[in-house]
Amino acid sequence: MTSDVVEKTALLQKYLDLDQRGAVIAEYIWIDSSGNLRSKGRTLPKKVESVQELPEWNFDGSSTGQAPGHDSDVYLKPVAFYPDPIRKGDNILVLSECWNSDGTPNKFNHRHEAAKLFEAHKSADIWFGLEQEYTLFDLHDNVYGWPKGGYPAPQGPYYCGVGAGKVFARDVIEAHYRACLYAGLKISGINAEVMPSQWEFQVGPCTGIEMGDQLWVGRYLLSRVAEEFGVKVSLHPKPLKGDWNGAGCHTNISTAAMRQPGGMKYIEEAIEKLSIRHKEHIKLYGSDNDQRLTGNHETASMSTFSSGVANRGASIRIPRSVSKEGYGYFEDRRPASNIDPYLVTGIICETICGAIDNADMFKEFERESS
Ligand code: ADP
Ligand code: MN
Ligand code: MN
Ligand code: MN
Repeated sequence: MTSDVVEKTALLQKYLDLDQRGAVIAEYIWIDSSGNLRSKGRTLPKKVESVQELPEWNFDGSSTGQAPGHDSDVYLKPVAFYPDPIRKGDNILVLSECWNSDGTPNKFNHRHEAAKLFEAHKSADIWFGLEQEYTLFDLHDNVYGWPKGGYPAPQGPYYCGVGAGKVFARDVIEAHYRACLYAGLKISGINAEVMPSQWEFQVGPCTGIEMGDQLWVGRYLLSRVAEEFGVKVSLHPKPLKGDWNGAGCHTNISTAAMRQPGGMKYIEEAIEKLSIRHKEHIKLYGSDNDQRLTGNHETASMSTFSSGVANRGASIRIPRSVSKEGYGYFEDRRPASNIDPYLVTGIICETICGAIDNADMFKEFERESS
């Protein structure tokens, strides 16, 4: 750090250490019309113990592409809160759903529909684990740490790499990992990816709607922590053309029946159901995913459905250990890094456990994209 930065950090600390006099800061987080995160802070009089205590709030939807100027209020309904690793103390992060003034869910609020499915299929006890891959860029939009105007050596040494020249932005990743743990997220691991400056964090297993909630907060913390390091986070599924791996969000799935001895039968049934709805799933599995699902770089082609044990070139992979034991979970490798996890976990639940009368993830998606 330069002495200038050291001085500024010390100066800021003087204010961060000030007593808040019992008040807490709640940072309300929401998803905007293009799947980016937005947030704003608000003072609450005292420590919050339950989500019911959190007031509804609103924002100017005309500034986020979520409402027209003449009817611009969009309402924020708190759905979950987490200890805030950035402000610490009793301060919190508040994940919120967006609702229109006429009482309908706002564009891109897919949580609402997914939650109905999970509620209806509670007895299936569906678990998910998501592997969020992402790529880091510097403030000039060059891949973070890559040589100016050039390329690093070809892929090979970077996946789970150790040592200078093989690892980029370890500081950001460590900071994010600790921030997620502090927030109480079920972050289950991290690893460096095949393309240099590409990383992954895993969240799960989480039950039902909790999966989408936790992934969005994990993403929020990633962007927020990286912001402090002057690093940009990209969730684009193919950030760099050519012989560089794309970024996905592998989705691991199990129901209670699959987790019992003999569960393989239910895993196979689920894969059969998924094969029939391949096209509908792909539509919800992220934009620009065609650039990633080419059949190269550990992916299956987007136009065909396939499955296999330990096959990282298939749409669906059954882990070797699961095949050996005869029960456990399986992995859907198709989702792109930029998915809305509510859409993906929602349609998976719908396909495996059955549609319900008052929710349809696919229609929900069509409504949003029209
Ligand atoms: P990969 O070998 O594909 O890179 P990872 O170790 O990165 O796998 O991720 C595996 C994910 O599977 C983790 O997020 C973990 O929480 C999740 N997982 C483990 N067991 C289950 C299960 N029974 N049901 C759903 N997800 C699970
Ligand atoms: Mn992984
Ligand atoms: Mn990976
Ligand atoms: Mn995987």
